[in-house]
Amino acid sequence: MTYNKLKLGQTIGIIGGGQLGKMMAQSAQKMGYRVVVLDPDPTCPCQYVAHEFIHAAYDDMAALERLGQLSDVITYEFENIDAEQLQRLTATYNVPQGDQAITLLQDRLTEKETLQQAGVQVVPFHHVATAEALDDAVEALGYPFMLKTRFGGYDGKGQLLIRSAQDLEAALTLVAEHECVAEQFLMLEREVSLTATAGQNGQIVYFPLQENEHRDQILFKTIVPARVDQTVQARREVEKITQAIHFIGTFTVEFFIDQDGQLFVNEIAPRPHNSGHYSIEACDYSQFDTHILAVVGRDLPTDITLLKPAVMMNLLGKDLDLLEKQFDTHPEWHVHIYGKEVRKPARKMGHMTLLTEDVNETEQEMLTLFEGRNV
Ligand code: ADP
Ligand code: MG
Repeated sequence: MTYNKLKLGQTIGIIGGGQLGKMMAQSAQKMGYRVVVLDPDPTCPCQYVAHEFIHAAYDDMAALERLGQLSDVITYEFENIDAEQLQRLTATYNVPQGDQAITLLQDRLTEKETLQQAGVQVVPFHHVATAEALDDAVEALGYPFMLKTRFGGYDGKGQLLIRSAQDLEAALTLVAEHECVAEQFLMLEREVSLTATAGQNGQIVYFPLQENEHRDQILFKTIVPARVDQTVQARREVEKITQAIHFIGTFTVEFFIDQDGQLFVNEIAPRPHNSGHYSIEACDYSQFDTHILAVVGRDLPTDITLLKPAVMMNLLGKDLDLLEKQFDTHPEWHVHIYGKEVRKPARKMGHMTLLTEDVNETEQEMLTLFEGRNV
């Protein structure tokens, strides 16, 4: 198979200029590439690091075309790009990731169906497009269950926990506005995720399994290596997924582990992921470095080495309020601030990674430190 390899000094176009785009751009620039970013927010984090910035809506086809003309390769930082527009770009420009992964994964229903067909264990689910289908879902799944919009959700947005018949009214309101997928609510023992990068030469490299804790459905902390026994099993599930979905670049599979130790695939992000941020300091290659190597057509390292165990804490607006005065005296926290103009209590403003010989002890220190966050 032939593919376009970029030369040093050539240009990578990134759709989306948030923190993921920014960290991608920083890896790209370190390696000697130019970066053009398209984002609707003129104050987005990437604005300050891109060589060139296109201020336009994600679905502005003329602006996407302009990005194509300015770039030698196009990649993206998020999955909610219009699949048809991405297909049009793919037909004319160098988009090694193609549009299959985005098309399948931006739709929770096709995502789950694809996973099932690939022989991967997913949480029992039911397609809910109508009030009748909601009744069927209650029958099929029982209470409690999660109702999630089929398209467009992230960080728990577009999700409702339906505990009993009392919550059905709220469920009906959501279903009237958005097609949904209902999913059995699991009593979770743990959540883990596996980040991997696929090269254009067929190579796939895996990062170590990551253990995640969410609070209010937003990632709170990641601990690596994950303190679970399902590492090999998780890798096997990802291998099945890569048979069914064509990935290029970095992607992450999120898993649930229930109280019986059963492993379920929750969802897949076809891009670098919040739970992989620790790799910047803790691994010999970051998830952004390997993503850039893949999209520019270079070889990937044969292995990723975890140089030191790590605890990654997200910094929401309320965490920054709580902790920023302490940054001056804690150089060991490896603080990343994304550069978003407006600080909001539940908005991801940054993250920090602590390298440690004892993740249990560091985790306890962080839990104590972050205790004030929810008040
Ligand atoms: P998002 O696209 O917002 O990341 P997820 O489906 O990953 O949506 O849900 C966010 C978080 O909500 C999960 O990481 C988990 O903590 C919780 N959650 C979601 N679905 C379930 C479920 N079926 N059972 C238990 N917890 C769930
Ligand atoms: Mg998720």
